[in-house]
Amino acid sequence: ILEIPSKTRSEMHSVLEKYFGYTSFRPNQEEVIASILAGKDVFVLMPTGGGKSLCYQIPALMMKGTAIVVSPLISLMKDQVDGLLAAGIPTAYLNSTLSDSESAEVRNRLMKGDLKILYMAPERLMMSGTLSLLKKANISLFAIDEAHCVSEWGHDFRPEYRKLSELRSLFPDVGMVALTATATERVRKDIVSVLHLKDPVIKISSFNRPNLSYQIVEKKDPNEQIISYLKKNRGKSGIIYCQSRESVERLADRLNKAGFSALPYHAGLSDDRRSKNQEKFIRDDVDVIVATVAFGMGIDKPDVRFVIHYDLPKNLESYYQETGRGGRDGLECECILFFNRGDWHKIRFFIEKKPSKKERDLAFQQLSQIMNYCESTECRRNALLRYFGENLTEPCNNCDSCISPREKFDGTKQAQMLIRCVSETGQKFGISHVIDVLYGARTKKVKESRHDRLEIHGLGKSVSKDEWKRIGNELIQSGCLSVSGERYPIVKMNEKSRKILAGTLSVELTEPLISKISKTNTNPA
Ligand code: ADP
Ligand code: ZN
Repeated sequence: ILEIPSKTRSEMHSVLEKYFGYTSFRPNQEEVIASILAGKDVFVLMPTGGGKSLCYQIPALMMKGTAIVVSPLISLMKDQVDGLLAAGIPTAYLNSTLSDSESAEVRNRLMKGDLKILYMAPERLMMSGTLSLLKKANISLFAIDEAHCVSEWGHDFRPEYRKLSELRSLFPDVGMVALTATATERVRKDIVSVLHLKDPVIKISSFNRPNLSYQIVEKKDPNEQIISYLKKNRGKSGIIYCQSRESVERLADRLNKAGFSALPYHAGLSDDRRSKNQEKFIRDDVDVIVATVAFGMGIDKPDVRFVIHYDLPKNLESYYQETGRGGRDGLECECILFFNRGDWHKIRFFIEKKPSKKERDLAFQQLSQIMNYCESTECRRNALLRYFGENLTEPCNNCDSCISPREKFDGTKQAQMLIRCVSETGQKFGISHVIDVLYGARTKKVKESRHDRLEIHGLGKSVSKDEWKRIGNELIQSGCLSVSGERYPIVKMNEKSRKILAGTLSVELTEPLISKISKTNTNPA
């Protein structure tokens, strides 16, 4: 096990924040980066989306000279490079899409030591002209991306990658890191041997944290729900994440009044206050820290036994990160997320106010991913891991979906109503509009499209709008309705919808979330 000197660690963190805007490393990133900086050869297996790029980009930024990144797809190089340039990192690529004068310019900058990172395809790298150029330049590191391409046993063998086999002896003193998302044991060994990695540090990441149990509970009276939870878990260490500073303060206060030891943590406190509160939590002087997402960077408290999300996290990424602060010692940690649709409306409202369309689109997309996660009946762990490109084949038996699967009810009538409404509004609208019509709303859009004159208008009034949304989502997820459309998702009928409407197919729907926690709070201890 590599000891990371604290100076290196803090430099790594500041590079992470300064150039990439992230506050904490993903599993294994830190170890990989430190090993590269220590001059080792490294083999990295991480699921897609696991953050392999940072594993070589950060050392590239911290080392003298230029890192050479080998990447198979010329089409992706430009995107990578553009991204790095936008972050202020001097980067370029060498490939056949460049004109002679453009390549000459890149070579020039390499020789002058102007580039931190240079991308190229393997065939370009192994050309004798390129090799002799690199010999004269100052190379910090070779990063071989999609390293499984060297192996004939893999699914994506590329003969050009085989030639990389000579690299190790041509540059005996330059560290090499091989990265891939897909490698069986056999391919892994093949990569190490073809590339002649020297006594490599091998890092294999799964994002699975089996000792974390994931639960989503309906948020009803969250303060009381939390208090009743704490009563049953006295003396355990835990983090409660809230969205705003005000709610952090309010909840911490409320918990103290109820006789629990809790401290607040958010960016509005003085540096001094913040570090004192954090210190007290780490030293076990206080059980609970109530915090905004500002809390957590560099926190390495091993025995956090619960992580509660009072509010909906921004996205699945942050959710994984924040819950990941629990159970570092490998022992059990309960991760509880309070969820209701009201929060969703609140977040939508904030997103609408963002000035840039690109940011809004991203935020809406992330919000809908986390909504689907919450409303899904799938194993939570499987769903979360799938987001990071990993596939568990078995349900985990350690999440609310696995342990207490939600009840089902015959939702054929509701499904028929909703599908009929899709049909009568002409299959030209998103689910929100369809539900507005069904619910009997008189929005501008409803009036303009004269959908308030349809017979179906208002027919679904006895069910709440949120419940209709939930039903709509479930029908879409189970393929009873289709969604299409480039810019706006439009709901359409399909084979299944028609059968349901014709009464030849019945539909089972899931009951809304009923939490174990909220049940217990009706008879407070
Ligand atoms: P991979 O190459 O493993 O598929 P990437 O390097 O493209 O994954 O990273 C996937 C996404 O995760 C990118 O958007 C990247 O910016 C983000 N990411 C990587 N590391 C971190 C981190 N430490 N914190 C937050 N996001 C990260
Ligand atoms: Zn599960």
